[in-house]
Amino acid sequence: ELQLSNRVNNIKPSPTLAITNKAKELKDSGKDIIGLGAGEPDFDTPEHIKQAAIEAINNGFTKYTAVDGTPELKKAIIDKFARDNDISYQPNEILVSVGGKQSFFNLAQALIDKDDEVIIPAPYWVSYPDMVKLADGVPVIVECPPEQNFKITAEQLEDAITDKTKLLVLNSPSNPTGMIYTLDELKAIAEVLKKNPHVYVASDDMYEHIRWTGDKFYNILNAAPELKERAIILNGVSKAYAMTGWRIGYAGGPAKLIGAMKKVQSQSTSCPTSISQVAAAAAISGDQSVLEPMLKAFEQRCDLVVDGLNNIKGITCLRPDGAFYVYPKIRPLLKAAGLKSCTAFAEWLLDKVGVAVVPGDAFGLGGFMRISYATDEATLKEALKRIEQAVSELD
Ligand code: PLP
Repeated sequence: ELQLSNRVNNIKPSPTLAITNKAKELKDSGKDIIGLGAGEPDFDTPEHIKQAAIEAINNGFTKYTAVDGTPELKKAIIDKFARDNDISYQPNEILVSVGGKQSFFNLAQALIDKDDEVIIPAPYWVSYPDMVKLADGVPVIVECPPEQNFKITAEQLEDAITDKTKLLVLNSPSNPTGMIYTLDELKAIAEVLKKNPHVYVASDDMYEHIRWTGDKFYNILNAAPELKERAIILNGVSKAYAMTGWRIGYAGGPAKLIGAMKKVQSQSTSCPTSISQVAAAAAISGDQSVLEPMLKAFEQRCDLVVDGLNNIKGITCLRPDGAFYVYPKIRPLLKAAGLKSCTAFAEWLLDKVGVAVVPGDAFGLGGFMRISYATDEATLKEALKRIEQAVSELD
């Protein structure tokens, strides 16, 4: 019998992709399904970005590039970090990868040793713990309930740090909660990190641009520039520019760490797609006003979904600050429905009214569900109606 590696047996497939696929299968089989599971914008990639890629193909820019990205794209990224984040990087401090997912994967492979601990605030992006496990590390999950807006506090961080802690992962705006760390919160976290020079910090800024409050965006290096030698900033074009299929993410960090991540990448995927790199450079350096209509739509949908959910008995939903997810609490409904977990609730909802959501168990904080509102308003309204209908039958 085939013996798979312990490494692979130790991880699970991405639960968000699983629910998206299940919803798609049901839909393909003719069922009336609304999928609110997908973590991608429903908008088309803006025209000037597509044109840049078409020109790249026509110009024959279809060969291997440098492993760490083309000089043009790296320059666009360096300029972006200076423009938006007040961080100055040299070319050897930047690595372009096949999506933000590969950026974090490279980081885990380059930094984490067996038994190293990685502090991950929950709810978290589903892939962090499994990528840490693939690197033989130990995910240390710190539960961050809605009473603290799903964010880790300095005290919790202090308590979680041990001699074995290697990395803290921050993600703001957050998938799955949409919450954003304030500058003061980041400063408090930075104070703890300063006291613990053995701990590195990854800031996953993937949803940086998906905000509509008008406030300035801050990450850990804005709170404490002196942490630069221990900070790795992860970002990408997938979400902001509706480019999930192009697969471009990037990282900025200390040259030694970036060099090690580049070595990992050179032995796995080599360079990211040449054509996508041209498109990503057009996205990052081009006209940023293309984001505006998307942000406006996200803001309106956010209001619609938050208000709609809070009107349903048994569901409470915090208003997010960014990204395109809400993470409502559904725990009171579980008992009424005779269900043991929010995973069972998500299955029940899919069976009963054909609405696909991702259960909170997938994000490390059960009793919740994640709804993605990267879908048109009519669909969202119908979904809310169906959820209300399903829930109303409980009492
Ligand atoms: N980081 C976070 C927080 C995400 O939600 C995602 C995508 O879901 C990624 C990184 C990875 O994005 P990409 O599609 O560029 O790999």
